[in-house]
Amino acid sequence: MEYFKCSSEELEKEYAALKKRYKDEKGKGLSLNMARGKPGKEQLDLSLKMLDVMNSKSDFIGEDGMDCRNYGIFHGIDECRKLFGEILGVPSNSVMVGGNSSLNMMFDTISCMMTKPIVEGCKPWYEVPDRKFLCPVPGYDRHFGITQYYGFEMIPVPMNENGPDMDIVERLVSNDESIKGIWCVPKYSNPNGITYSDETVRRFASLKPAAKDFRIMWDNAYCIHDITDTPDKLLNIVDECRKTGNVDLPVLFCSTSKITFPGAGVAAMAASSNNMKVFAARYNYEIISYDKLNMLRHVKFFGDFNGVLKHMEKHKAILKPKFDIVLNTLDKELKPTGTANWTNPNGGYFVSVDVMEGTAKRVVHLCRDAGVVLTGAGATYPLGNDPHDSNIRIAPTFPPNNELEQAMDIFCTCAKLAACEKLLGKI
Ligand code: PMP
Repeated sequence: MEYFKCSSEELEKEYAALKKRYKDEKGKGLSLNMARGKPGKEQLDLSLKMLDVMNSKSDFIGEDGMDCRNYGIFHGIDECRKLFGEILGVPSNSVMVGGNSSLNMMFDTISCMMTKPIVEGCKPWYEVPDRKFLCPVPGYDRHFGITQYYGFEMIPVPMNENGPDMDIVERLVSNDESIKGIWCVPKYSNPNGITYSDETVRRFASLKPAAKDFRIMWDNAYCIHDITDTPDKLLNIVDECRKTGNVDLPVLFCSTSKITFPGAGVAAMAASSNNMKVFAARYNYEIISYDKLNMLRHVKFFGDFNGVLKHMEKHKAILKPKFDIVLNTLDKELKPTGTANWTNPNGGYFVSVDVMEGTAKRVVHLCRDAGVVLTGAGATYPLGNDPHDSNIRIAPTFPPNNELEQAMDIFCTCAKLAACEKLLGKI
């Protein structure tokens, strides 16, 4: 039944039925988690053999002749730079392979620009008291956390089906020298699974920021993470920037966290030589060299880029049914009520649900009380502030399918319950 068209008697009846259903579900004493985008056990098992590709009898010499057990090769071993070059679609000599986390590299990159100018003649960002960063919303909470930590005013930019609203981005960056950058997850964005259109990428490459040291944080965390047979295609920002002469604008990031093991994978970044010179001058102080054994282990396990893509097919086979459970349950339970909208992504790790305005916090609360943990309402906005109190990020990858089904049933009950409460003026 479509809630907006119901009489208050009809809604009261629906509310009473939902309250009973909620009480029954709560009584089951479940403990389910759809909070963070963590791979499930079955996905982690896909990479177990990587632990067998190296042992005490292995040859630890990389292609560049270096013993990977020892210090050295600050930028990472050649074969791993090549692999990430192919993953990111950039020349391998622009790649730096890091440690186990791309978020760590992003944090470092921002810290670097806080303390040293990325462009000669500009101020380090800590000397810019009114520094600002653009944050496409809904977005990734940990990105926002970094710029919050460094004292940026975060300006939300709405996402549409083509990516961030580029009219707003262009207007803001061309007029305000204190806007220093923008967070982007250009493919299968976190949380709404949108891939930036070709036009959006071209407009990014053509930006004319007032700040000479404006940088695009191009976090391509889900660049090869398809879940359907109709994957999205993302235009190559580095190629486009070469055409516009804006080669220093983007800084790219990715990792194998959702390819092999989160927290025990390999991360990489890529940037122009001008940028990399400044970043490397900083990283040189903080580390001698990253974990080359892990880089070598990854390269030996995959063989080449084709090997990575084949591996991603196995992830896809596991993830597709999980996304189907989420989408089918939303279709069955929430669609008829007309109170919510959600995304149907071709890849990535999330389904982004907009429940009835003013009820997201209540839905998350009801779910928690019934044993289902969700990402906090508002987390997808800077400072946790969703002005519509509507967006909830569903992360379907971690729970086993039977638990996911239960969790989604409870989620839908809670979303409907909260919508009834709102319409009946109870919250
Ligand atoms: N970027 C995005 C968009 C993510 O969703 C995540 C993980 N959830 C990360 C970065 C973190 O990646 P890493 O494990 O490489 O730090």
